[in-house]
Amino acid sequence: MSAPTATSQTHAIGCSHCEDDAPAPTGARIRGSVTAVAAVLVALACVLSYVAVSPAWVSALFVTAALVGSIFPAQRALQGLRRRTLDINALMVIAVIGAVAIGEFEEAAMVVSLFAAAQWLEAQSIDRARKAIGQLLEASPVDVLIREAEGEHRIGIDVVPIGALMVVRPGEKLALDGLVQSGRSDVNQAPITGESLPVEKGEGDEVFAGTINGHGALVVVVTRRRTDTTLARIVRLVETAQSQRAPVQQFIERFAAWYTPAVVILAALVTTLPVLAAGQPLDVWLYRALVLLVVACPCALVISTPVSVVSALAGAARHGVLIKGGAHLERLAAVRVVAFDKTGTLTTGIFSLDAVIPLGAATEADAILTAAAVESHSEHPIAAAIVARAIADGATPAPASNVRALPGLGVEGVVGGSAIVCGTPRLFSERGWMTPGLEGLAASVTGKGLSPVLVARDGVAIGVLGLRDRPKADAAQVVTDLRRHENVHVAMITGDHDAPARAMASELNVEILKSQQLPQDKVAAVQSLRREFGAVAMVGDGVNDAPALAASDVGIAMGAMGSAVALEAADIALMADDLSKLRYAMRLSRATLDNIRVNVALSVALKVAFLVLAVAGVATLWMAVLADTGASALVVANAVRLRRFQ
Ligand code: ADP
Ligand code: MG
Repeated sequence: MSAPTATSQTHAIGCSHCEDDAPAPTGARIRGSVTAVAAVLVALACVLSYVAVSPAWVSALFVTAALVGSIFPAQRALQGLRRRTLDINALMVIAVIGAVAIGEFEEAAMVVSLFAAAQWLEAQSIDRARKAIGQLLEASPVDVLIREAEGEHRIGIDVVPIGALMVVRPGEKLALDGLVQSGRSDVNQAPITGESLPVEKGEGDEVFAGTINGHGALVVVVTRRRTDTTLARIVRLVETAQSQRAPVQQFIERFAAWYTPAVVILAALVTTLPVLAAGQPLDVWLYRALVLLVVACPCALVISTPVSVVSALAGAARHGVLIKGGAHLERLAAVRVVAFDKTGTLTTGIFSLDAVIPLGAATEADAILTAAAVESHSEHPIAAAIVARAIADGATPAPASNVRALPGLGVEGVVGGSAIVCGTPRLFSERGWMTPGLEGLAASVTGKGLSPVLVARDGVAIGVLGLRDRPKADAAQVVTDLRRHENVHVAMITGDHDAPARAMASELNVEILKSQQLPQDKVAAVQSLRREFGAVAMVGDGVNDAPALAASDVGIAMGAMGSAVALEAADIALMADDLSKLRYAMRLSRATLDNIRVNVALSVALKVAFLVLAVAGVATLWMAVLADTGASALVVANAVRLRRFQ
């Protein structure tokens, strides 16, 4: 990933007042105490100025406070200069030197203390928004109870090998990914999926690090080492997500790049022009120029986007929606059409074999068993249904060899010396095996809303199978809501036959249908949708839909937990298999853009107002710093609301 890290990002902006890269803890502590010393000195000086102590002493205290407080800004200003950027620290240091030079000791000290306090406050709030994601996912146990032949004992999480038996007691958090070997329990997966109901887990089920075991005890075979768990992968993705800047943000950075030097030049003009041209007093205009410098830092503006984006990402993660960067969030808000994959996305992907038509000399059992022999090697959900039916009928499919998947078409292999092919009518047409009679039978199956699978032995059809898939319970509702409330077009892209696909599309209230699409055609389908309507979000299960996900403007993977491919391929991953989160994500993306607009407007308006006041000589230095801190605080407070967006 070429995007710079969060740290370099703030540097590029040239305003480290708003720096959100937390310094090392000790550095922060030193900075905190230096700030505190400066603040105490200021307070002391203030008190002393009321009791009759010689003004020289008070001034000395203020100057000391200003010097102490300036140490860190000066250090950062120098770092900035080395990178050839003039940041707020440089502006601050110039302002303090100037204030001391014109004898405004009290103001110099005040400005420095307020500035330090502002920096500290900001670092705290941004940090908190950022940690919200981390907290969600962290706190996995440090050691793991392992069962071995000689008994149970705890070992460090980092040294647990794959294949070890992990004992998970009721109420414990799972430390690693694995498969349940024995035991039954309800597992709360909310920390990763946002799903509120616990999921039943039993023998053979996959369980994930970071989830919380319910009432039963489980023995789990560890399948991934600590650094490879789904949880670890999510954490890594979230980290890179934060460095992916939204286009709005890049615009603001370009703006800041010319803005700071422009302000310095303006300040120089304010100092010199009235004095040279109109014989005005130097100290008055110098002071105004200094105020101008401090007022000018576009801190609130610069943090307006990242704070909103980070808050939104944190809120989304809590709902089990993993968004891999601000750019995707921004693009999602512009989406005009949502294209769904059918099988496994809008439908359950659990097929049932509802029609069997044997042909020629073949019997019903013959057709099913022959198909099951090759299908037992296929990953396709249709295959699972055919094999399940054969087993339910009490038969064991014969072994098959040379099995080959024909993506989007079917599967072929050799069984008992004969070449067996199972697949779509299209596949049979391509092979030249289609007859009018076979066509009619396929049509009768599709007429019932079933997906047809033709079975051939050595090029001769021996059966027509009809399989039914059911829509997910909330699919129709989600599609309708998206069309009605989010004002997007909804399309379905599927490799399935036209007739069953059309039946499903009308049942689900889908507007646009693209059927009989081979995996490679799905990319073209996405592109044609984009030409017709605008930005496309493609929703798929992420495995065979990967090319289409990549071709779309925003690729959204369903049920990404457990599927590394899906997690990697998509821009947005819905961790649980929950379609309704889609609408949440779209609403969140729009709310985030609105939030950013409010933040930008707010900070620009305050900035302009104070710039005018500064040049007019109404604003004082400490008012300037206070205004900037206030604007930043408002922006942060506004952005943090996104974390609780529902
Ligand atoms: P979708 O786009 O709905 O996810 P696929 O692209 O995976 O569908 O498959 C398209 C069609 O190809 C299926 O509807 C089915 O008719 C056929 N097909 C794919 N794989 C198999 C298989 N293993 N056995 C039989 N038919 C298959
Ligand atoms: Mg699919």
